Amino acid sequence: MDIQVAASPQEDVVAKILNKSKSVQKLSKGGKTYTFFNVIGATEKEVKVFRIYQCHKFSTIFIGKTYKFVKVTKREGTLIVNSNCPITFTAPITVPDHLRDEMHLLPEDVPTTGTPSTISEALQTAGRSAITGKVVQISPPKYARDSALPIRCLSVKDSTSTVKVCLFERNAEMTFSPSDTVQLTGLYKSTYQGFLPDAANIQVNPEDKLDDPDFQTAAAPGLKPGVSITEFLSVSVYECCRNQKCRKKKLVSQKCPTCQLEDKDTPSKTCFMSLMYKHNEQPSKFSIFQEDLEKLIGETCNLDSEESLVEQIANKLPLTFSCVIQKGTFQNVSI
Ligand SMILES: [Zn+2]
Repeated sequence: MDIQVAASPQEDVVAKILNKSKSVQKLSKGGKTYTFFNVIGATEKEVKVFRIYQCHKFSTIFIGKTYKFVKVTKREGTLIVNSNCPITFTAPITVPDHLRDEMHLLPEDVPTTGTPSTISEALQTAGRSAITGKVVQISPPKYARDSALPIRCLSVKDSTSTVKVCLFERNAEMTFSPSDTVQLTGLYKSTYQGFLPDAANIQVNPEDKLDDPDFQTAAAPGLKPGVSITEFLSVSVYECCRNQKCRKKKLVSQKCPTCQLEDKDTPSKTCFMSLMYKHNEQPSKFSIFQEDLEKLIGETCNLDSEESLVEQIANKLPLTFSCVIQKGTFQNVSI
C-alpha cells in the first residue's frame, strides 16, 4: 500500500491500548481508498490517537495490552502507523488513573458537534471540540470577501483558560453581551449553539480581557443620554439620489454627484433639520437627517413641503433622545 505522508520526525511510542475501532475504516482520497483502524493508546504521560494502516494487525491489537509502535509519524495530532512501521508487544506500562478515566473517543465516534471539553483540552486536541464558558469580550463585526462574510470574535473563559473564538456568518451577527454563558460546538466551525443558564462557578474579571487588536473597538465616546431639543433653526426638503448606496445624496441640477444618475421624472426626496446645540459649553450647528428624524418624531417625515415638515416637527417638540456626540454630529440616536 502506498501512503503519502509528509516528511516529519519519526518516533517510537510505547502505549497501552485503551480503545480500538470496532471495524476496519475506509477513507477515499484522490481516487484511492485507504483502509486502516484507529486505536486510542496511553503512554505513561498522555493519551494519543493512532491510525494504523496495517489491517492484518486488526485482530492482534488488544485493548489493555501494551505495544511499541516503531517509526511512527505525526499528522494533525494523530500518530500514523504505516505499513512499514513495526508494531511489537512490549512490557505493560502503567497508565495514570486520570488518563484512563478521561473520555477517549475514537475519531469515528467524535460527534460532529465536537467532544465536550474544557478550553484547555480543546486547545490541545486536533479534533472538534465543544466548550462552555462566559463571554469576556466581543469584537465589533468585520466583513470579509467583499462584505459577504461577517466575522466576529469572542473571548470566552471557562475554569481552565480563556480563548479567542471566531464566529462566521449568522453566528457573527448574533448579539452577545459580556458575561453571557455560551456553548460553542463544532469548534472547527465555531458553531454557536445558544445561551445557557448562568455558570455561577466562572467569574469574569477585567484582567481576563485579552490584549488582542480584534477586540479594540473604534474610539467609543460616551453615550449622552437626555439630549433635549426644544427648538430648531430650519428644515430642508430636497431631491436626492434614489440609488441606495448613495445614501440620499442631494441632486445637483437633477444629477447625483456621486453616481452621476440623472433623475428628472421621479426623484426621491429627503430632508434634514438644522439646529444649534450647546455641547461642552460650545454652541454649534447640528443637522439631523431623515432617518434619525423619523426615529425621534416617531413617524414618517412629511416631505410635501418644508412648511409642512416644520409644522410636523414643531408639534413633536421637545425631542428627547440619547446619542453619541462626535465631531458636531449626533450619532447612534435612540429614544
Ligand atoms: Zn447617486
